[in-house]
Amino acid sequence: MTVGAPGQARRIEGGPIAAEIRSAVAEDVATFTTTHGRAPGLAVVIIGRDAPSTVYLEQILRGCAKVGIEARFAEIDGEATEASVTTRIRELNEDDTVDGVIVQMPLPPTIRLRAVIDAIDPAKDIDGIHPLNAGLLRLGYDGFLPATAHAAVEILRRSGVEIEGRDAVVIGRSAVVGMPAAFLLVKEDATVTVCHSRTTDLPDKVRRADIVVVAAGKPGLITGAMLKPGAVVVDVGINLVDGKLVGDVDFESASQVASAITPVPGGVGPLTNALLLTHLIRAAERQAATATDTRAGVR
Ligand code: NAD
Repeated sequence: MTVGAPGQARRIEGGPIAAEIRSAVAEDVATFTTTHGRAPGLAVVIIGRDAPSTVYLEQILRGCAKVGIEARFAEIDGEATEASVTTRIRELNEDDTVDGVIVQMPLPPTIRLRAVIDAIDPAKDIDGIHPLNAGLLRLGYDGFLPATAHAAVEILRRSGVEIEGRDAVVIGRSAVVGMPAAFLLVKEDATVTVCHSRTTDLPDKVRRADIVVVAAGKPGLITGAMLKPGAVVVDVGINLVDGKLVGDVDFESASQVASAITPVPGGVGPLTNALLLTHLIRAAERQAATATDTRAGVR
């Protein structure tokens, strides 16, 4: 599908795509478990169980259990300081039953993000936050991708949206969502403009785009009036408004102009979690291969 006809936009549902991915992961996990005599393992470093993100992390754990991945919370012993968190991460780096490590975000203000991401073994960094993986993506090599950015582009690919040669606008320049999504779109041969909070005349930039990826965390930022007729819209935003989950795009007006659009909830979100599982199985397979090479004396 290229840029399609405007009108009532096609809803791009993430759920069915995520289900497809999860069933492929379940097969890979079963093969890995038979071959290596243990299930692939994920550790989620938890800094406070009462943080709002705990609900999301519990969802990841449940998703892992369904496909046979051994996933658990790794608590911090005592007070959560930079030293205690990085020590816990290093213990997990050394643990052969742990193939992937993710850390609960956001961190408390007393703990530097840089210290935490530097501590993660890049081979276990399944959410692509370590500088090595960020660098690999920047250079166009295969590393671990941040799962949300991966989902924003994978949802386009798996829905048959043509990316090559299209003009894309990414709104948001964060290290975990906006920038990696932009690099991935460039890798897919789109021509990409990155917009952010200091961008002047955002509507003008958005109106030129065939593909609009919105990751700003601002409900209602993008409306139908700003879109090129027939554009494809990926809404990454997650906002709670009056107790309701909404994205960054005004779905009602945008669906009148776009040719396809991802809803919130039910679009990028389900795909993010499913793709994280594919990253984990890849990490497990790579580490198992490295361990075999080491035993066989391959240097
Ligand atoms: P962030 O706050 O780190 O970055 C927001 C970006 O948006 C910044 O680069 C900022 O410059 C830009 N921005 C803010 N206001 C803007 C404006 N008025 N015009 C243009 N640009 C503007 O947030 P993040 O971590 O990148 O997350 C972005 C959104 O994605 C949030 O809503 C977050 O909840 C959501 N998110 C979704 C998932 C998922 O699985 N769907 C996962 C992670 C984050």
